[in-house]
Amino acid sequence: MSSFEPYGSCTLCPHACAVNRLSGDRGICGETGELRLATAGLHFGEEPPITGGGGSGTIFIVGCSMRCPFCQNYQISRGGAGRAVNSEEFTEICIALGDEGAENINLVTPSHMAPTLVEYLISSRKAGLKLPVAWNSSGYESTETVKIAERVVDIWLPDLKTLDKEIARRIYGVERYPEAAASALLTMAGFGRVEVDDKGWMKRGLMVRHLVLPGEMDSTRGILEWFADNLAGRAWLSLMTQYTPVGVPGRQLNRVEYEKVLGWLDEFGIDDGFVQDLVSGDEWLPDFRRPNPFSSDLSRILWRWDTGFVRDL
Ligand code: SF4
Repeated sequence: MSSFEPYGSCTLCPHACAVNRLSGDRGICGETGELRLATAGLHFGEEPPITGGGGSGTIFIVGCSMRCPFCQNYQISRGGAGRAVNSEEFTEICIALGDEGAENINLVTPSHMAPTLVEYLISSRKAGLKLPVAWNSSGYESTETVKIAERVVDIWLPDLKTLDKEIARRIYGVERYPEAAASALLTMAGFGRVEVDDKGWMKRGLMVRHLVLPGEMDSTRGILEWFADNLAGRAWLSLMTQYTPVGVPGRQLNRVEYEKVLGWLDEFGIDDGFVQDLVSGDEWLPDFRRPNPFSSDLSRILWRWDTGFVRDL
């Protein structure tokens, strides 16, 4: 377990639970001060500049300070599938991802473990890790934690779920999400503009991800307007259409809604970024009980919590 003091009375995210995670207590994120991982592997389903040619070196971290009712990663965000790793094992995983061709180290849901990840990544860099590090977060994080992470992070990949307080409360159960996320994202944007290499693969900067929710189009319009006013020219936007009602009633996005969003991108003059094709069906949903939680063309697993390194899946 890391000895970092911030876990002693945890305020690492805006929930500010003030629990002592060093003594094994858990706040809303569900995790003590021990870093637990679920899987690590090459992921080919991220935006093209993140996937690159070799895949994104994705490390799934157990726990999350959000409780989105439709979370596609619920088995690890709140199901607890995972195990603790120390600094040496974390470094081995990072180096193995690099050896297998990863373009970056992509930390999925890292915010509640920020101090440990910074400590371990500094060690990994000393051990030879050269890849850029991506912070793939919910956006619900304090500016202090973002500044802690900045010591090791190159690429910021936060969600921006909504800026509407009513939706934040009704759907995500966190009314403070809009102000916290806006402030975190502006802090991230302040670290510098997007940089890509000569192949177009992202090396630094901020890409904001927004999942369009069916039937909540005003929320998406509000996001686009805010992005145009605050981040255009300083960040990329990635619009995701893959919403699938996992464990809740509902439907996927329809063609009319999709076309409406494309029209708004034109209206607000946003052209730096990506729009996912309209998704239907659920074949792409992960199942972390399978040896490879994703389809084999989307990912190649190198490490699992229950088996360790599994190079030949
Ligand atoms: S990181 Fe976890 S324990 Fe700490 S404030 Fe956030 S939800 Fe609470």
